[in-house]
Amino acid sequence: MRKNTRPALLTVLLSALVLSGCSNEEATVAPVMTPAEPSVSTELQPHQQLAREILKELVEIDTTDASGDNTAAAQAMADRLLAAGFPAEDVQVLAPAERKGNLVARYRGRNAGRKPLLLLAHIDVVAADPADWTLDPFTFVEQEGYYYGRGTTDDKDEAAIHIANLIRLKEEGFQPDRDIIVALTADEETGNHNGVKWLLEEHRELIDAEYALNEGGGGSMQDGVHISNNVQASEKVYQTFILETTNPGGHSSLPVKDNAIYDLAEAIVRIRNHAFPVSLNEVTSLFFERSAALEEGELAAAMRGVLQSPPDPSAIAFLADTPYYNSRLRTTCVATRLDAGHADNALPQRARATINCRVLPGESIAAVHNTLETVIGNDRVSVTPAAPAKPSPPSPLTDEMLGAIESITNDMWPGVPVIPTMSTGATDGLYLRIAGIPVYGVSGLFGDIDDVRAHGQNERIRIESYFEGQEFLYQLTKTLSRSDQN
Ligand SMILES: [Zn+2]
Repeated sequence: MRKNTRPALLTVLLSALVLSGCSNEEATVAPVMTPAEPSVSTELQPHQQLAREILKELVEIDTTDASGDNTAAAQAMADRLLAAGFPAEDVQVLAPAERKGNLVARYRGRNAGRKPLLLLAHIDVVAADPADWTLDPFTFVEQEGYYYGRGTTDDKDEAAIHIANLIRLKEEGFQPDRDIIVALTADEETGNHNGVKWLLEEHRELIDAEYALNEGGGGSMQDGVHISNNVQASEKVYQTFILETTNPGGHSSLPVKDNAIYDLAEAIVRIRNHAFPVSLNEVTSLFFERSAALEEGELAAAMRGVLQSPPDPSAIAFLADTPYYNSRLRTTCVATRLDAGHADNALPQRARATINCRVLPGESIAAVHNTLETVIGNDRVSVTPAAPAKPSPPSPLTDEMLGAIESITNDMWPGVPVIPTMSTGATDGLYLRIAGIPVYGVSGLFGDIDDVRAHGQNERIRIESYFEGQEFLYQLTKTLSRSDQN
């Protein structure tokens, strides 16, 4: 992360997004533009006022795994839709367990034969210890251009926006060509009742869709300047392997070179020294191509260099120095845990290491397994998958989807590029992609790359960004649910 300023910062943001799995941590911009507009709320238009009220209501319902009640939040959103005139049969709260309710609502379109558009957001939040905050995490506070509270960037902002937009569309008499489904779900962060997984298993028909919008993307900004509108269209596949070697052992006062720990250590060093081949897919190619236009100097050149066929080795070497870029170029495997020996004075009879891999989508897990065995080159060290992988295919960057995102982005923020991204961690999009439903992490919610507070203290969203995201998602929802003709 030495290179020039902006790229490194872009990197910081994207990494932060990806690490949490909850990616639209659109935190916000520093005081530069904030002293301002103390009266924002008095100037709100009715649909903005509604989005603000809904966000407030959601933030103030504790939905943490430990003490919260997701069902209460889902029911509160259901009540709003019912009050807005949605029929009861189209608004359901479904709970696999107490406090773990999910809301599924359907806005009927004219064309029942066309697969729906799914708008997904999770309404559970990570724990927030009030002692760590200067504000109460479960009280919605408006202060100097920001809304504060747990979930304001992850992911109650999107949940509130989807509900507010659905109500707005209904009030406006919008007639979608296809059904629009909103699903607000439980246990994305922690807990044993992941709403998306459960809905797919038990009520697939309720959320089945042509494709879904989810968290995982979002816009990057810095000092009030919009940098890029990011669309998460792919995720790497998580796969852990266990290396293990055994040995008869013996007394440590009579050592021999045949030692389980030495075998394992050599295996691990070989994995460290191995680099998996560079392989770009549709999403990462476009990521490097469009990021290059935002960068300068050596970094921009390297981004263009890896796009050559074959990729320029010096470009690979340059990008591989930065973990964020390296992880977009190739499968990675890294040692994360060690466990060996049984006594200070005994030769070890067993040594184990955990190797965590993040496999490029489309690459076979069996091939990675074989590569590890070949790299280790020692039959005494076994390599075993810790659990079956959950491979999810990249979502295709169709004209219908990417074109709509680009057109709205260009109208709202002229000149700001749309950048497809591949996450190295997983979101709920994983389950949908596995089930054959493409997912796009896109929100139009811009966060400052130096102020990412999702999962952290005093989580907040810039008010102006919140309403921009609302407008973006409103436009995108309309565009994607219209018929081709209008
Ligand atoms: Zn999230």
